[in-house]
Amino acid sequence: MTTAYPHLFQPITVGPVTLPNRLVMGSMHTGLEARADGPPRLAAFYAERAAAEAGLIITGGVSPNFEGRLKDEPAMLASAADAAWHRPIPEAVHDAGGRIVLQILHSGRYGYHEAIVAPSAVRSPINREMPRAMTEADIARTIGDFATAAELAREAGYDGVEIMGSEGYLITQFLCPRTNQRDDDWGGSLDNRLRFAVETVRSVRRAVGSDFLVIFRISTLDLVEGGLTADETVALARAVEAAGADMLTSGIGWHEARVPTIAQAVPRGGFAWASRRITEAVAIPVAASNRINTPEAGEAILAAGHADMISMARPFLADGAFAAKARAGDRRGINICIACNQACLDHYFIDEPASCLVNPHACREEELRATPAEQPRAIAVVGGGPAGLAAAAVAAERGHQVTLFEAASELGGQFNLAKRVPGKQEFGESVAYFADRLQRAGVALRLGQRATTDDLAGGRFAHVVMASGVAPRRPDIPGIDHPMVATYADVLTGRVQAGRRVVIIGAGGIGFDVALFLLEHSLRSHVEADAFAHHWGIAANGEAAGGLEPSGAPDDPPPHQITMLKRSPGGFGRTLGRSTGWIHRLILARNHVAQFAGVAYDRIDDGGIHITVGGEGRHIPADNIVICAGQDPLADLAPDLAAANVAATAIGGARLAAELDAERAIEEGTRLALAL
Ligand code: NAP
Ligand code: SF4
Repeated sequence: MTTAYPHLFQPITVGPVTLPNRLVMGSMHTGLEARADGPPRLAAFYAERAAAEAGLIITGGVSPNFEGRLKDEPAMLASAADAAWHRPIPEAVHDAGGRIVLQILHSGRYGYHEAIVAPSAVRSPINREMPRAMTEADIARTIGDFATAAELAREAGYDGVEIMGSEGYLITQFLCPRTNQRDDDWGGSLDNRLRFAVETVRSVRRAVGSDFLVIFRISTLDLVEGGLTADETVALARAVEAAGADMLTSGIGWHEARVPTIAQAVPRGGFAWASRRITEAVAIPVAASNRINTPEAGEAILAAGHADMISMARPFLADGAFAAKARAGDRRGINICIACNQACLDHYFIDEPASCLVNPHACREEELRATPAEQPRAIAVVGGGPAGLAAAAVAAERGHQVTLFEAASELGGQFNLAKRVPGKQEFGESVAYFADRLQRAGVALRLGQRATTDDLAGGRFAHVVMASGVAPRRPDIPGIDHPMVATYADVLTGRVQAGRRVVIIGAGGIGFDVALFLLEHSLRSHVEADAFAHHWGIAANGEAAGGLEPSGAPDDPPPHQITMLKRSPGGFGRTLGRSTGWIHRLILARNHVAQFAGVAYDRIDDGGIHITVGGEGRHIPADNIVICAGQDPLADLAPDLAAANVAATAIGGARLAAELDAERAIEEGTRLALAL
């Protein structure tokens, strides 16, 4: 077989099975694991990936007992009834020609409920609840529960289990002095701290025999104080190998780590080097993970010898056919995960099933299945931003004749601004992907053409999709036309080079984006692993506990003195995503960005901006003031189209600018196109 990615598509034997390629679909919480409609939806979700050649699939985490559950709604595998719940999932994957293992995850002190347990009563900084310290009897019972869960996974038809030993969950809590303060056989010396992990693997292996995959997910870097050193991690890897693990998957960082591990701030493949230490220390296969989102990134990691396999989780949400397309060399056809976390991880925190910003079909395989249009018609799409791109692609693929009008000379809309923000360069991948899809589906492009009613009326089109987007809001502040005032687009496109003192009006996603752009756009930390490690204080030297530099991240002088303002009271960054907002807030704090909430804007003049805050007037000197005050819908054609009796539907920002984000835009475009 010839392929552009020869390392990725080498078969590999892992324990009792031979896999066709090195691509593992890593574990993700989908939010379906405890729902009544979970089995058919998960079966469809995983089967689609299996049919498209994912080498090995690992499910979202399932607890071996009640106290190990992550949330009050328990996803558990502890009884024959639980096993029956799971049975349709491996069955569908096997019918599709794939292999699937179940992840057993005991959350320990990370559970979001009142009865959490841990090796010691040490509260996590990301959980209000204090865990109860486990007794020796609890420990023995829990190890038994892991073994029972593995037996039940086998009974349910899975090909194996992955034991979750990373990210700060229960097993990790036993490993590290940070959370293990016991002075019995389960704490203190390294051997004692490793004992829980080793005994868990041993008892699982004993329970399932030799012809069932047992994978251990190891924390190759803890990224917390009081975490393991590299030597201790290698000792753990060897110990779980000796206890019966067939393979190791990598995990990076505890959830409470203050270093980004999967967000856009992490360069592609930025942690693969940490897997290499383990790969060199054990004979069983090791999979690298985290921010590996393209076949070329995976191929390079394997070619460099960092790992034997590549584990990707979110990229399989973004494109269920990632593996098949990569094998066929269809790189342009792959919908690349942009590491935004908006529709996957952030959904988990609000108890919504996961999906994907760039692929709303994910986890809704049956609901959003595209079928050929009953009656192919001429459709116009006005606007080539995220909503218009999605609508045009889906409508054309269903057989409609689609014409897309875009006033700018290129497709992409707001994505073309977003991709200039540090870490958001991946948005460029999405634009390229959709552009390619439009071309393959035969969409007629009218670039550089602002559609008029004449273009759209007169029976030329059976339906017009208004995806004309948004216009930046210009607040009514005396002096707003002063030359020092710029829009966010001026700054992000480089039309305006901001001076040293910058005031940002508005603190939504774009206000934060502009601040990050000003502070970080000359850095390489979003694209180079070494620069990233330096920027975030990650130790290359393996002796550092948790893999962190004892001196922390360097505090370079900020390139701009930034002040952010907003009228509403309360904290800054509350509207940002739960899994990424903390990173942006941390970067701004490190760069001493001043923030004032509850302000009234009085006027702008040569000296800067004058505001009232807390009943007192205040003057903030500025070289530039950047407006990031939200948007208004841009749908000025709508009345004329209605008058001309042209059927039209507005989507995305053109329909409603408030709380618009790309997730909603793409989903609305997709849903409308499926209904046309
Ligand atoms: P936004 O999140 O709605 O924020 C608009 C900001 O402008 C608010 O801070 C608001 O604060 C202020 N504002 C509104 N009207 C104003 C007025 N008349 N005068 C002065 N200030 C005013 O909008 P955005 O930042 O433009 O972002 C647009 C959308 O893209 C949002 O939905 C956002 O979530 C999304 N986005 C997300 C990300 C991300 O990282 N996930 C990044 C970029 C954009 P006050 O009302 O308190 O003054
Ligand atoms: Fe990737 Fe964003 Fe999709 Fe999650 S929502 S899979 S991070 S593109």
